[in-house]
Amino acid sequence: MTALLEVEDLRVAYGKIEAVKGISFTVDVGQVVTLIGTNGAGKTTTLRTLSGLLKPIGGQVRFEGKPLSGVPAHRIVSLGLAHSPEGRHIFPRMSIEENLLLGAFLRRDSAGIQRDVEKAYTLFPILGERRKQAAGTLSGGEQQMLAMGRALMSQPKLLMLDEPSMGLSPIMMQKIMSTITELRATGTTILLVEQNAQAALSLADQGHVMETGRIVLSGTGPDLLHDESVRKAYLGED
Ligand code: ATP
Repeated sequence: MTALLEVEDLRVAYGKIEAVKGISFTVDVGQVVTLIGTNGAGKTTTLRTLSGLLKPIGGQVRFEGKPLSGVPAHRIVSLGLAHSPEGRHIFPRMSIEENLLLGAFLRRDSAGIQRDVEKAYTLFPILGERRKQAAGTLSGGEQQMLAMGRALMSQPKLLMLDEPSMGLSPIMMQKIMSTITELRATGTTILLVEQNAQAALSLADQGHVMETGRIVLSGTGPDLLHDESVRKAYLGED
């Protein structure tokens, strides 16, 4: 398999506080890879660094073999990395369709953009039904769908999702997770950050457990799901 993303000994700090202390992992084309771990483990910091929003203090990130260091965030989007951030960050006064179109801000192919808007509506029919409505009127789960749809509008080679299940009802969470499975079936490569370890590991090819800035355990999704220490620490078992 070809590595799409290679992260090597990545270190990120906020001032003197090192939030990511030398992590390494790869994401191969077509894989779903998940980073799990409790609050403050450094998962969001990792995604924000891969997106070019934070500058690392050490290590290497390569995307399709090319180093990403020093590449500004908008260039990183155009290289094919899209980020659906924690807390969604949709624009509440703009319509659902306008929010989706923002995800295509670097594209010039209007026919292709329109096709992808329709694709997002097929993936999330509720967004199509309400396309002209202000995005702020959507429920939390629907806003999460919009954030994912918007990230997909840049036609990413790698889709990074930060806690898509956060704050959602079990039914909504199920819907988001089945959409990730659907996206994976169409060949989308995904890096998924989740606190819901059960859900994330159930659909991941590879998983990494983060604790205070380090990867402490790695394995296939099923292996980690059955690992005793993971079950105790993250799946609430005695
Ligand atoms: P969560 O699920 O709560 O977002 P996380 O695993 O994504 O957890 P991060 O948000 O990456 O963790 O945080 C890692 C560490 O960095 C934490 O100790 C956090 O307090 C710290 N941190 C995060 N953002 C900042 C910031 N802007 N300034 C200073 N410290 C920060």
